[in-house]
Amino acid sequence: MKKYIFITGGVVSSLGKGLATASLGALLQARGFKVRLRKLDPYLNVDPGTMSPYQHGEVYVTDDGAETDLDLGHYERFTGVPSKKSDSVTSGRIFSTVIARERKGDYLGATVQVIPHVTDAIKEFIKADTQSEDFVLCEIGGTVGDIESLPFLEAIRQLGNELGKDKTLFIHLTLVPWIAAAGELKTKPTQHSVKELLSVGIQPDILLCRCDRVIPVEARRKIALFCNLDPNKVIQALDVNTIYQVPLAYHAENLDEEVCRHFNIRSVKPNLEIWQNIVDRFSIPEGAVNIAVVGKYTSFHDAYKSLIEALRHGGIANNVRVNIVWVDSESLEKEQDHSQLKGCHGVLVPGGFGERGTKGKVEAIKFARENKIPYFGICFGMQMAVIEIARNVLGLKDAGSTEFGQCSEPVVGLLEEWLRGNVLEKRSVNSDKGGSMRLGAYDCYLQPGSRAQQIYQTSKISERHRHRYEVNANYKDRLEKKAGLIFSGLSKDSILPEIVEMPSHPWFIGVQFHPELKSKPFAPHPLFISFIQAAVKQSKLV
Ligand code: GLN
Repeated sequence: MKKYIFITGGVVSSLGKGLATASLGALLQARGFKVRLRKLDPYLNVDPGTMSPYQHGEVYVTDDGAETDLDLGHYERFTGVPSKKSDSVTSGRIFSTVIARERKGDYLGATVQVIPHVTDAIKEFIKADTQSEDFVLCEIGGTVGDIESLPFLEAIRQLGNELGKDKTLFIHLTLVPWIAAAGELKTKPTQHSVKELLSVGIQPDILLCRCDRVIPVEARRKIALFCNLDPNKVIQALDVNTIYQVPLAYHAENLDEEVCRHFNIRSVKPNLEIWQNIVDRFSIPEGAVNIAVVGKYTSFHDAYKSLIEALRHGGIANNVRVNIVWVDSESLEKEQDHSQLKGCHGVLVPGGFGERGTKGKVEAIKFARENKIPYFGICFGMQMAVIEIARNVLGLKDAGSTEFGQCSEPVVGLLEEWLRGNVLEKRSVNSDKGGSMRLGAYDCYLQPGSRAQQIYQTSKISERHRHRYEVNANYKDRLEKKAGLIFSGLSKDSILPEIVEMPSHPWFIGVQFHPELKSKPFAPHPLFISFIQAAVKQSKLV
């Protein structure tokens, strides 16, 4: 019988609830259990797709085309279980489902209310679309005490009652801060946070206490006493050097043991060798490479969460440390100064939207192309690379993207129709902005003998997409014959360019999809392995 674990957070945000959920998922998996991880977000957007990266960080895309919270990226990276649309929900989606049902007449006669209609819809979501999993882990976004999260807390409280203690477990993640003036770790914020949770009828079963130093036994006892818990259920979550150490650190503090004890499960000790290996390779690299990431949100690293991790995975595979040199694309525009790129062994332009900062991106690509520095363009970074080459090699001075308005040489243009399986998707400039991009996994066919095909070691791949514009195939001939660019990856119908590469360059590849979304520490993505390998080569030249 399936068991549900609910993870809430208290005191402050950013304590790493997503990583805690992902790490517990990995530990249960290492004990041989089948897990599924889900995120419930209290905000009113239907999904995070329309939010600015400054608001929300990266939008993580699933195979089945959902735009979701970046925590789903952690879930996949730690467990390898591909997330689905049914693993992510927001208040916006729940409310729109309930309101649509009301309009259909499904609740005819009833006054539609938060309890039971909204909470029922939340419970339905939690239980829907599961298979033979042993555990479903549900993370509740936000911090306990937020007005918006109340319906979610009420729904999980009800589920706790309905399914019973032997099927449900509540974990609460809090902070035990060090107060320098008192020279003490303080337990009061945790006590208050648990009181807040009790006020909505939830008694946590396990407390995970984030701290920057060891919590003394007396302080743990005090937390246990005030929060109605056995001291063994008060688990310290000490800061660690790398996120991949978290499963090991939690195991050392008996988290997985206590979870099994709660459910009365006898299980084998987990095999954590892969995590130890990852941490070892990460901690003792044999060298280092500098990779310039040229983007618009470089001061806000959450916007590039999966990218940062995928670069690290590429480093793990090559036994090197990857130092990311963040380059604000606008700063390259102003000064036309390449000094920020000079010590770099690779240049990467990641996904992006809008015209601001594009001049700097094109400048960086030109620099990498001319100086034979490995270049990796992802989505927008591929589109910008094609524009750079069209302008500076083909001599089409007005080459641009219609994303920035009308242009006489639309080398990148709006994607108006494409095939999803056998369904023809159609869009126009007036289409809704939410959920209307080309989203999710699509197959791509690789040209035999191309670098892409050598890297992937196969001729058909499937990668995740999130874009509204596409390289205009009308320019393909000219770019191939006159600029030495190869369109080495195409969509199934051979219409949409998916990968471009420059054989005369040591490593110059642009991809229309987001390979970073599928990279894992225990299975680094081939493109990132190859890119970092090229950067290592470059580092030996300079
Ligand atoms: N803005 C571009 C598009 O919509 C690229 C999107 C991206 O990089 N994810 O096509």
